[in-house]
Amino acid sequence: MARRKKVYEGKAKILYEGPEPGTLVQYFKDDATAFNAEKRATVEGKGVLNNRLSEFFMTGLNSVGVPTHFIRRLNMREQLIRAVEIIPLEVVVRNVAAGSISKRLGIDEGTPLPRPIVEFYFKNDELGDPMVSEEHIIAFGWASQQDMDDMISLALRVNDFLSGLMLGVGIKLVDFKIEIGRVWDNDYMRLIIADEISPDSCRLWDIETGQKLDKDVFRRDLGNLADAYTEVARRLGVMPQREPPVTKPTLIN
Ligand code: UDP
Repeated sequence: MARRKKVYEGKAKILYEGPEPGTLVQYFKDDATAFNAEKRATVEGKGVLNNRLSEFFMTGLNSVGVPTHFIRRLNMREQLIRAVEIIPLEVVVRNVAAGSISKRLGIDEGTPLPRPIVEFYFKNDELGDPMVSEEHIIAFGWASQQDMDDMISLALRVNDFLSGLMLGVGIKLVDFKIEIGRVWDNDYMRLIIADEISPDSCRLWDIETGQKLDKDVFRRDLGNLADAYTEVARRLGVMPQREPPVTKPTLIN
């Protein structure tokens, strides 16, 4: 049997050529990396969890009219997606101060922000994904003014959707990162959500206890990462509990 063609391999995922033109197969690995891949580990089950969670979030977004690349899940670790031209930016939305904004601006982690803040980082591992402004993005031609407006609107819609979903299961959506890609339908170009949405790219805190249920568990050595992701999946009802074994009723005479 011919081996399928690998199109791209990243830190946590592999992309293969899809069955039809304009499609790709996205494979979720168990590899965890942090600090620009300086810290690495294999976390058994992470790929399976992120495949399911990303499916859940992307399907939900599609159903409320936020376009994403997700077509359907193929198996435990793979999903069929639309091929897009990735805009070389990481789009971060923050509701509560944590991570780099706390360090950069000296705001205590956990401080609620006055409104959701959208930030852009240039996707470049060698440079450590530096933060960039709208001025840079437009001057260097990474995106147009119209794209910027569309990206901000998409990012805020994703924030509203995910925040509500998480609140419903007792989780605070502190911040998250998305990637956005271009697709062409005939001559018409539009932007859609690409990559993945999972606890690898979000900060999720338990509302009651403040417990971290995201990749900070790995970054900061706070416990078992797969347990944290399993808890998120369990609360969202994403990984259905196994059905109890069927036992035959015993007839009592
Ligand atoms: N993030 C990500 N990939 C990156 C950088 C950040 O998914 O390469 C996510 C991160 O998990 C968090 C949000 O984006 O949910 C904001 O991250 P931040 O800028 O605070 O950077 P960090 O502290 O993670 O270095």
